[in-house]
Amino acid sequence: MNPMEAVGRVADSLACTVSYQEPMQSHTTFKIGGPSDLFVKVQNQSALSGLLKAADEMQVRWQVIGKGSNLLVDDQGIRGMVLELSGEFSQIQRVGENQILCGAAVSLAALCWFAQKEGLTGLEFAYGIPGTVGGAVFMNAGAYGSEMKNILLSGTHMTADGTLVTLTRDEMDLSYRHSTYQGRQVVIVSALLQLTLGRPEEIRSRMEDILQRRKDKQPLEQPSAGSVFKRPQGHFAGTLIEQCGLKGRAVGGAMVSPKHAGFIVNTGGATCRDVLDLIAVIQQTVKKETGVSLECEIKAVK
Ligand SMILES: Cc1cc2nc3c(=O)[nH]c(=O)nc-3n(C[C@H](O)[C@H](O)[C@H](O)COP(=O)(O)OP(=O)(O)OC[C@H]3O[C@@H](n4cnc5c(N)ncnc54)[C@H](O)[C@@H]3O)c2cc1C
Repeated sequence: MNPMEAVGRVADSLACTVSYQEPMQSHTTFKIGGPSDLFVKVQNQSALSGLLKAADEMQVRWQVIGKGSNLLVDDQGIRGMVLELSGEFSQIQRVGENQILCGAAVSLAALCWFAQKEGLTGLEFAYGIPGTVGGAVFMNAGAYGSEMKNILLSGTHMTADGTLVTLTRDEMDLSYRHSTYQGRQVVIVSALLQLTLGRPEEIRSRMEDILQRRKDKQPLEQPSAGSVFKRPQGHFAGTLIEQCGLKGRAVGGAMVSPKHAGFIVNTGGATCRDVLDLIAVIQQTVKKETGVSLECEIKAVK
């Protein structure tokens, strides 16, 4: 039995959902990506701990995926194990007067609606970001003048040896699209958020307003991974790309969105190679014409 199958057997015994050669294009908003060797849906912390220990023992590399809304998966797919959280990681609960404890697998949409119904304000900015709480903490996701940093009290993660660790907001080292979790082999399992009491109808109207602004400006009707590049100091990536005449520029099935130049959209059958080649064209052109270097926000994984 090869190591991958051995870890797959352990996953089976821990009541996880296991599949081999899982097409990652079905798990990314870009609809791009070849198969992962092993894809495991894990339901609770004890199974997660058992699985990480087995992967460590068998020396099987692994990575976690949320909604795949910030990922560009290689055409050859992902070697090793891809973990998706579900079950107990999808729970949300109000704690005390104005806090929410939520599992990392909770979608930001579900979380925003929960907060709205509970009359808790502060999360409206996240409405329309198509990720999970885990992905949003990992990325310090933000929009419309706010970011996760402003509402996080603490986050709990599991290390590769199955230990649970809780970090305070300061320890998470959150800054623009950055957290301490990046570059570390950990699974964020939950987050504790601090919100403010508000009126449900006002919260709802702010959420609807933000979603409308997204619909007006962003190509939500086509597969993408959101903004491709981080905001360069003093500029907007989309504006620079548009100024360079790159709107509508295509490589294969990948195209700079004519609606929002900060987005690359999959117009049908785009490969990871197409997107990477288009990114290179954009970076070279913008550097040459404006002197500004564009750094990728989306994460290329394999
Ligand atoms: C149409 C569209 C609009 C978008 N708008 C915005 C926006 O306004 N603001 C913004 O910030 N982003 C935006 N994004 C990007 C994306 O939605 C966010 O980065 C989001 O936070 C990613 O969450 P995810 O669950 O999809 O993570 P994934 O894309 O699945 O993963 C992203 C990274 O997080 C890691 N990760 C995910 N879950 C965990 C976990 N539980 N533990 C450890 N690591 C984990 C992954 O390993 C990966 O490295 C947009 C994307 C799209 C497609």
